[in-house]
Amino acid sequence: TEDSPTGKHVAVFAFPFATHALALLRLVRRIAEASPATMFSFLSSEKSNLACFSGGRRDDGGTCPNLVAYDVWDGAPEGYVPSGRNPVEPVEIFLRAVPGNFESVLRAAERERGCNITCLLTDAFYWFGADMARERSVPWVPVWTAGPSALIAHMETDSIRQIFGTSGKMLDAIPGLSAMRMTDVPKEILDATTPFPTMLYRMGQVLPQATAVVSNSFEDIDPIVEGELHSKLRKFLDVGPFVLSPPPPLSDEHGCIPWLDKQETASVVYVSFGSMIRPPPHEITAIVNALDKAASPFLWSFRGDAQAELPREFLERRTRGKVVPWAPQLHVLGHRAVGAFVTHCGWNSVLESMIGGVPMVGRPFFGEQSMNARAVEDVWRIGVAVEGGAFTEEATADALERVLAGEEGKRMRERAGALKEMALKAVEPQGSSTRNFKALVEIVTG
Ligand code: UDP
Repeated sequence: TEDSPTGKHVAVFAFPFATHALALLRLVRRIAEASPATMFSFLSSEKSNLACFSGGRRDDGGTCPNLVAYDVWDGAPEGYVPSGRNPVEPVEIFLRAVPGNFESVLRAAERERGCNITCLLTDAFYWFGADMARERSVPWVPVWTAGPSALIAHMETDSIRQIFGTSGKMLDAIPGLSAMRMTDVPKEILDATTPFPTMLYRMGQVLPQATAVVSNSFEDIDPIVEGELHSKLRKFLDVGPFVLSPPPPLSDEHGCIPWLDKQETASVVYVSFGSMIRPPPHEITAIVNALDKAASPFLWSFRGDAQAELPREFLERRTRGKVVPWAPQLHVLGHRAVGAFVTHCGWNSVLESMIGGVPMVGRPFFGEQSMNARAVEDVWRIGVAVEGGAFTEEATADALERVLAGEEGKRMRERAGALKEMALKAVEPQGSSTRNFKALVEIVTG
């Protein structure tokens, strides 16, 4: 057993899929560094912990000696191999194991470290955190890593379903969602029969019980949405953009930055659809043709096999374009040469585009991406959604033209620049996200 000089012990429950656990770990490391006398136990699946903690260490090496990782069961039977047919299958299997898998490892961590927990910090998805924290009389602090409009939508699911049922198209009756349309709502909200949507529904119901809800955003981003979250929740703390605290070091093995250095200011189209989305072949062809038509230089972070999926002539136009398997996106979007970002509107991509002051061409695919795209187009007015909802040559070329050229594009760039200033200001020593982070440390370790 280990002694905590303060008797403080924070349990952290991560969601072990996509980029959730790593984003949460980054935040928890910051808190652990700010409060070295508090113990932190980070619970996630073995696979997720192996990916998050270098060298498979279970303590955090020299960086955060007060942070220890514990593996929870991923719910899969011995020898389970995912069928690959349904990407959410591992998630559904995992959700069958919660909260029992967390509960038992939490007790083991308490025994091992000789101290009961004094706070429960979880991925916001984990609705069961509310009950667990209440039973133990400790604060529950959920962390929401996506966009603020989607958070309201999950809390307003019953009202949204009611409007949907009465053939309503607009959501202006719902405070905070006046800019959104029914077609922007994540489909999980309208059809909550399977485990993942059920989890989101339960989350929306219990979040108002949380001591504080933490968000990867900044206060000035959207006064209407932010105001609504402040009134709905006991405490709402924007401490983002997470990616700026601290920014990741540049890792550029495919030479994106030196290539951008050779391009003219605000001329390059950067194309990327996040860590996993691969548009269907006919949409890839539409993008290729639209880029040819625009005659702009392009940098494409391509998921999949570029050699097999892109035309050879296109790949050979090395002076005008560059296709890479991965790009240092934050640094790319911060480069003066980038003039437009063709994106799926994942929350991190939207934030990073703002941080770079780059206008967007949005093609949302699933989940909250349509709400983000709507806000990009109609609330912040820093980009356009591709007409018709999918890439066609004409719609993509039109969107690129609007964003890159002329007065409209210039205005978008100016507005994106203003959001960039707000985001950077929020994380300065006197900024709102820094102030909120201090409040968070106080709640979690106080
Ligand atoms: N990303 C990157 N290089 C790439 C593609 C993506 O660094 O070539 C990063 C990007 O900066 C962002 C994350 O991957 O932080 C994608 O997150 P987002 O929420 O936009 O989309 P998701 O992958 O969750 O769909």
